[in-house]
Amino acid sequence: VRRKAFLMLAAAPLLVARPARAQSDADPAMNSARPALRVLLGPGDASAAADGTFAFQGRLYRGSFTRLDDGQIVNLVDLEAYVCSVVPAEMSPHWPAPALEAQSICARTYVLQRSNPRRAYDLVPSELDQVYRGIEGESPNATAAVNATAGTVLRFNASFAQVAYSSCCGGHTEASSDAWGSLPIPYLAGVVCTSCSDSPYFRWSSSLTLESIAASLPASLTSIGDLVDLRIAQRDSSGRARVFELVGRNDSVTVQGSAFRRAIGPRTLRSLLIIAVQHWPDSPQIDLEGGGLGHGVGLCQWGAHGMAVAGAGAPAILAYYFPGTVVTDLER
Ligand SMILES: [Zn+2]
Repeated sequence: VRRKAFLMLAAAPLLVARPARAQSDADPAMNSARPALRVLLGPGDASAAADGTFAFQGRLYRGSFTRLDDGQIVNLVDLEAYVCSVVPAEMSPHWPAPALEAQSICARTYVLQRSNPRRAYDLVPSELDQVYRGIEGESPNATAAVNATAGTVLRFNASFAQVAYSSCCGGHTEASSDAWGSLPIPYLAGVVCTSCSDSPYFRWSSSLTLESIAASLPASLTSIGDLVDLRIAQRDSSGRARVFELVGRNDSVTVQGSAFRRAIGPRTLRSLLIIAVQHWPDSPQIDLEGGGLGHGVGLCQWGAHGMAVAGAGAPAILAYYFPGTVVTDLER
């Protein structure tokens, strides 16, 4: 009897911190009317400099800081200054201005859509949210793009759009509902993308050994016996692997694509757009041919690059990857 089981998505660990204690009443770094963003930097010592910046673990940051009751440092930073540091970390600052402008609007909207005053901070400075390295992360081209789009956001009707982006979609962006098992979002249903073929990962091939796959899987799956094959049991509408079948010597199980990619490692398995799986009989390895890099939901960054090279502006790029949304002023 073949038993089928689904590996459920593991819940992300929650970062727990108690509410911030204000370091001082005045905050000289704020240059907009909006409340400062609160970026959790982590445990350690911070020291203020005379020029309105401060140092934390060898890096300089704009704005000010507070210390949470658990000792962690939170950077209070103006939204635009934050975006200036994020854009070059998330996209090459050597790319054309319209792509950097689209990335700026995405980074700004991402923050506003997630800020929650009831939490002790809004964001973490890593890929869990957006990569933020303070002043050393800034770059003149990216700052120019942030300034050119200052105060503009992506909206769907009256709400901030739920923004997602990844490096290269491989030819079709992914529906958020397929990637994350959430309710469908009209502007994140997935579109054909013909602009990202300049990416080095538009097409790729790689090999995984059966042994390394088996070693990545939860211990609860070892009951299937030695892994002998890997198959794609189901694809979603974009062509990505929705369900894998792991065939063991005793039994087989099915595993959700996103859980499988997380287990193998998102850098090892570049995307779920796996075009071909080849396994020669008795070979210890599985050969994969795939397309794209990342989850593929929302903005295809290499697609934004391609559209910009072809003459598109940031609003047209965003309208393509988030159909039905509009770029508007934040304060309106
Ligand atoms: Zn693409």
